[in-house]
Amino acid sequence: ISPLRLEPQPSLPLPIDLFGTHAGARKNSTGLDLTVPAMRAPLLAALQSTAVPAVATANVAEVAKAFQASQASFAAWSHTDVAARATILRRAADAMLADTPSLCAILVKEAFKTWGDAVSEVREAVDFLRYYADEAERIMQPIAMPQVHGATAAAYTYGVTGETNTLRLTARGVWVCISPWNFPLAIFAGQVAAALATGNTVLAKPAEQTPGVALAAVRLLHAAGVPADALQLLHGTGETVGAALVAQPGVAGVVFTGSTQVAKIIQRALAAKDGAIVPLIAETGGINAMVVDSSALPEQVVDAVGMSAFRSAGQRCSALRLLCVHASIADGVIEMVQGAARELVSGNPADLSTDVGPVIDREAYDNIQRQIARLTKEAKVVVQPAANEQSALPNLIAPHAFEVNSIADVQAEIFGPVLQIVRWSGDPSEVVAQINALGYGLTFGIQTRIDSRAQALAHAAHIGNVYINRNMIGAVVGVQPFGGEGLSGTGPKAGGPHYLYRFCAEQTITVNTTAAGG
Ligand code: NAD
Repeated sequence: ISPLRLEPQPSLPLPIDLFGTHAGARKNSTGLDLTVPAMRAPLLAALQSTAVPAVATANVAEVAKAFQASQASFAAWSHTDVAARATILRRAADAMLADTPSLCAILVKEAFKTWGDAVSEVREAVDFLRYYADEAERIMQPIAMPQVHGATAAAYTYGVTGETNTLRLTARGVWVCISPWNFPLAIFAGQVAAALATGNTVLAKPAEQTPGVALAAVRLLHAAGVPADALQLLHGTGETVGAALVAQPGVAGVVFTGSTQVAKIIQRALAAKDGAIVPLIAETGGINAMVVDSSALPEQVVDAVGMSAFRSAGQRCSALRLLCVHASIADGVIEMVQGAARELVSGNPADLSTDVGPVIDREAYDNIQRQIARLTKEAKVVVQPAANEQSALPNLIAPHAFEVNSIADVQAEIFGPVLQIVRWSGDPSEVVAQINALGYGLTFGIQTRIDSRAQALAHAAHIGNVYINRNMIGAVVGVQPFGGEGLSGTGPKAGGPHYLYRFCAEQTITVNTTAAGG
C-alpha cells in the first residue's frame, strides 16, 4: 500500500520537458498529451478509481508445477503460426494503449512514477509488443539458402548441386523472464513479448516491489489470446521464486534485467546445472559517464545533465552518474548544474508538477543515503537540498551532486538522483580510457562542438549506447536499440533487429533432391 498522499493538483503548472522540445523528444504514440487538460482528466480520474491489483506469492512447489504446465503448453504455442501469435500481441498492445490511464495510475501508486514517466512507460510497453510482433514475422520466415555463396560460383571452392538448403528459426522452449522494478511494465512486457512472439512459453517473475502492474499486463495478454499456461506469472522474492525458476531442469533460456550482481548469480546457477548449456540474456547496471570538452555549449550540457542524472529520481539504468567536465569550463557548468537542480521539484509523484518522486523503497533509500553520507565526507558537496527542503514524504531524495578527484574513485552504481563530477584536462581519449576501465558499458554522453572528436570518442568507448550533444535518455523501441557491454550486460540489444534471434534455435535442413523421394 502506498504511503503517499495521492491527491493530484491539476492546476499546478506542468513540468517542463514532459514531452520535451529537447532534441530527441519522442513521438507520443499513446496519443496522450498531458499539456491538454481534457487528456489529463482520464489519468487523474484513474488515480482515484484504479487499485493496484493484489497478488499471491508462489512457493517452490508451485514453481515446479507452473514449469510443467509451461512445458506442456509449448507444443501448441510454438506451432501456432507466427502471424497468429503476432496478431495476439498486437491485440494486447491495442488493449494496453486503451488502458493507459489505469496502467499509469498503477505505475504512480506502485512504482511512484511521475505522470510523465508513467505515460512514457506505457508507450514503451506498447511499442515493445508491436515491434516484437513485427520482428518475429520478419525473421521467422524460412530462408532458402543459395547454392553457392558469393556473386559467382568461381569465387568459392565449394558449392552444392542437387541439394536444397533451408535455414529456419524455431522456438527453444520455456523461457524464464526476470524483470526489475524500475521499468516494471515496459521491461516486463518487452521480455515477455520477445519470448512469446518467437513461439516460446514464459514463466515471468516481476520484481517483488512491483507485481501489480505485471499482473495487469498479463491479464491483457491473456484476454488478447495468449494461452494461460503459455504465460504464467510467479510472484515472490528473487532469492526464492527467482532462484527456483532458474533452477528448473529444462529451462530453455533466461532473460534478466536488473543488477550486475544478480546477473552473475543467475549465470553461475545456470552453469552449475546438469544438461544443456542455457542461454542468458542479461541487461544490467552502469556507471554512465558524460565527457564535456571545452568547446561544449554549457546550456546544452546542463539541460542534458538535469534530464539524465535527476529525472526519474536517478532510477534509470541509463542515468548519468559521472560528469567529466573540462577544467576550463568546469566552474561555470557546476554553477549552472546547481541552479538547474534547484529548479527541479521533488515531491509527490501524483502531483503533475513533480519532477523527482520518491525512490522505490526504504532499502533503496537507506543505500542511497549511505552513499550520500560517504560522499559528503570524502568529496566536495556541489548540490544538496537545503535543510528546510527536506520533505515529509517517505523515501524522497532530492538531487545531490558531489565533486570527486578522479574517475577511478567512482566504483559503484548509485541507483538514485546522485551525480558525481570530475574535472579533467589534457587528452579526452585518456578520459574515455579511464571510463572504459570502470568495466561498465551501458550509456555514454559526449558534449563537444568538434564533430571529428565526437566520433573518435564514441568509437573509443566500449559502451553500448552513446549520446552525442543530447541527454542520455533514449531507448526508443526499433529506433535506438538499447543494451550494454562488460559489467552492463550480454546483449543483444533490446528493441533492436538482433534481439529476437537469441530467443530462437536455428536449424539448417539439407535435402538431396536427386535421391529417390528427393
Ligand atoms: P535486482 O537485481 O535486485 O532485481 C532484479 C530482479 O531479479 C528482481 O525481479 C529480483 O527479484 C530478481 N532476483 C534477485 N535475486 C535473484 C536470484 N538470486 N535469482 C533470480 N532472480 C533474482 O535489480 P533491481 O533493484 O530490481 O533493479 C535495479 C537494477 O537494474 C539497477 O542495477 C539497474 O541499473 C538495472 N537495470 C538495467 C537495465 C538495462 O536495460 N540494462 C534496465 C533497468 C534496470
